[in-house]
Amino acid sequence: MKKAELVIFDMDGIIVDTAKYHYQAWKTVLMDHWGISHVLSVDEKTKGVGRYECMKLIADEYQINAPEEELYQVANEKNELYKMLLREKLTDQEVLPGIRDVMEMLHKNQILIALASSSYNAPYIVEKLNLEFDYIVNPASIRKGKPAPDIYLAAAEHFDIPIDYCIGVEDAASGVRSIKSAGMFCIGVGNSKLLRGADVIIDTTLQLPEVMEEILKNHEGNREDDLGERRTLDWETGGTVGFDINNGVASERKATERTLSQMAGAYQNEDAVKAILAKEDPIIYTFYELDVPEHEGDIAFGTTIIYPGTVGDEYFMTKGHYHNVIDTAEIYYGFQGEGYIITENAEGDVRNFPISQGKAVYVGKAYAHRTVNTGDDPLVCFFAFRADAGHNYKGIEEKGFHTIVLRSREGKPILMKNQKWIDGELDKTKEAKVKW
Ligand code: ZN
Repeated sequence: MKKAELVIFDMDGIIVDTAKYHYQAWKTVLMDHWGISHVLSVDEKTKGVGRYECMKLIADEYQINAPEEELYQVANEKNELYKMLLREKLTDQEVLPGIRDVMEMLHKNQILIALASSSYNAPYIVEKLNLEFDYIVNPASIRKGKPAPDIYLAAAEHFDIPIDYCIGVEDAASGVRSIKSAGMFCIGVGNSKLLRGADVIIDTTLQLPEVMEEILKNHEGNREDDLGERRTLDWETGGTVGFDINNGVASERKATERTLSQMAGAYQNEDAVKAILAKEDPIIYTFYELDVPEHEGDIAFGTTIIYPGTVGDEYFMTKGHYHNVIDTAEIYYGFQGEGYIITENAEGDVRNFPISQGKAVYVGKAYAHRTVNTGDDPLVCFFAFRADAGHNYKGIEEKGFHTIVLRSREGKPILMKNQKWIDGELDKTKEAKVKW
């Protein structure tokens, strides 16, 4: 698991112990309808299982031979009785120990919290307990209940968070299997024999805050750290803290990925593009930025990571753009790696700058710019420009820049003139002005 961004809780047995109400409700309807004394060992098997699955499981256990319709009816009756018990007896005192603390700690750390319960009563219970979840999965939207991974995956998908950044918390064997089939990190609460497969097992929810803190600490490496140090800003201290934009609403870090298929036309060698895309669609670059409002006077800033690689002989690079507010300059600063910042203006004046760790580049007003990674490591640059400038890709998408950066046979970068500009009709007038 990487740095946690989302923690997903089961409800029954983790957030609150509704087991006694379930037990009591089943006990009553089973006795009323079939004269059966419901026993705890059977009740144990129904934990974490949806309403009708529960009924079927119980019918199997006690060899109840009743038509499907009757089973449904009894299950619904049980649910009505269960809800009545909740209304009458459930109070916010019944949140299990440690839960409020761990939720508060997660909220403080800006980690999202979701609830993945098979129970249709979850929203009602959560409200009654006065708990704050960022998202409650609606079990009606889930095709396969636990132990299938669907309900946990639905929570991750809701926030678009990769499973590597999710933690699931469960007290039932079916739930642990659900989390592990989803590929998530699993904290099991309860009997270690029953919860085999969980990554961490604790006895009671009381231990959750401590264990969660430990897990968060051990997985502090975030997405950027996968690439090593110095590659991104320290967003915590350099970005969000005390950075009061948007009328006091905290701004969020955004990551945008560009894959080869999204910029296939940017590369000279179409066959090479096709050959790569036939196998995979590699991420060429990712950029991170704060959601700075596009206002005059604000400054947009962030980091761009261009991964190492080539398409044919041409190095990985950004799409490149003009700014909509054409009279906009931009600052680049190299954090790591090596490459070039290729620039040119509409008159065909070309200016190319090497960039590497510690080097700053000033991209002049009205110059289109693209960053090219010519090294073996990711090239990481900081950028800053006026926040209302916008991006304009159009002029660039058509023919590309005058300069292309190719890897020589010796593996060294060489700057070449783009044939599209030399052969095309437009070129004749512009080519003469290209400076090298
Ligand atoms: Zn720019």
